[in-house]
Amino acid sequence: MPAGLRSGLVSAPRALRIERGARTGQPIIISLDSTELGPALGGCRIKPYASWRDGMDDALRLSAAMTAKAALAEMPYGGGKAVVALSPGTAAHYAGAHRGDLLADVGEAVESFDGSYITGPDVGTSPDDMAVIGRRTRHVLCRPQHAGGSGDSSAPTAAGVLACIDAVRDRVFDGRPARRLTFAIQGLGHVGALIAGALARQGASLVVADTEPGRQRLANRWRARVAAPEQLLTSEADILVPAALGATLTPQAVPALRCRAIVGPANNQLAGDSVADLLHAQGITWAPDPVVSAGGIVASVAREISHLADPEVQNLLAAIGDRLGALLDESARSGRPPLTVAQQRLRQVLTQAQAPAGPHPTVATA
Ligand code: NAD
Repeated sequence: MPAGLRSGLVSAPRALRIERGARTGQPIIISLDSTELGPALGGCRIKPYASWRDGMDDALRLSAAMTAKAALAEMPYGGGKAVVALSPGTAAHYAGAHRGDLLADVGEAVESFDGSYITGPDVGTSPDDMAVIGRRTRHVLCRPQHAGGSGDSSAPTAAGVLACIDAVRDRVFDGRPARRLTFAIQGLGHVGALIAGALARQGASLVVADTEPGRQRLANRWRARVAAPEQLLTSEADILVPAALGATLTPQAVPALRCRAIVGPANNQLAGDSVADLLHAQGITWAPDPVVSAGGIVASVAREISHLADPEVQNLLAAIGDRLGALLDESARSGRPPLTVAQQRLRQVLTQAQAPAGPHPTVATA
């Protein structure tokens, strides 16, 4: 079992289906990690893999991470994932004229779960792709707004991260305002750029990095200092914001970090669970990414399934910060790393859901 919140928990998925698309023959792998709390939520990843088995490993790992994300966000949903493991060399073919066939295959695979799996965008798929998948199934989130969906989830994801940054400012920096803090932001993509912009408007000092020179040029807008991507992690800052790839926090990287807290949207930030202990021992507060990065699924479900109005959605996004705050408070009280507290919370929620007469969790509508 890879690192993450599900480590130490039962890891067999509730359902794993592997089939070849009727039109394209490409392997479509759908893993429903858990459905005890409700239908399994999780995006559709389309990318080339050396073997479909690698795609299956990703589907298993990512669907387990979605279980943690939904359960810790107190949503009545489980975790799932669809992976289309494109054969090597076919990516360009399925980015062009044949994409519609591939997405039709995906739509039929999703529909075959009859609502127990709900898909959405992930690496290699977009809101526009969701509109095409949506011709075959209703069980799809984040279609563009003109097609009846809630669109790109980056803005609510960034809002959830900003709420978590506030929770960390209160607890680790005695409520010091952002304008008196320095943030190191790794990755200026969809979410990272929104976070950087919001922090710059609050007067924060920023040091930023992106491997794409074009994205790095955004720094001028925010009067941010640009670091080389390989030096960003060790830049001196109060709060490090990982907003690029996962597994950047390794045992080797931790001793060189020069921040007091880490709060960001990147999924699966820790290269292994032991990194959480190392960070804790070094006095660095790490905010577990499944809690921090939940804004996208919280908002898309709230808008498209629960049909909540915008003020209620904003309240739900603010509640992500409250939830992280409670977790950090428990960590401070017990002296245990935040990851351990989150794992225990997840275990409680899933155990209750598996108990025959256990209480059913409700959607948080604070
Ligand atoms: P994105 O692909 O738009 O942006 C990622 C950026 O990171 C890119 O600009 C890329 O060039 C840059 N990058 C890659 N490697 C880097 C490195 N080593 N150093 C610096 N920059 C690097 O992705 P996104 O949608 O902004 O998501 C960012 C992270 O948040 C991802 O890990 C994603 O899985 C996670 N996340 C996103 C959402 C969402 O709604 N978009 C929701 C939950 C979690």
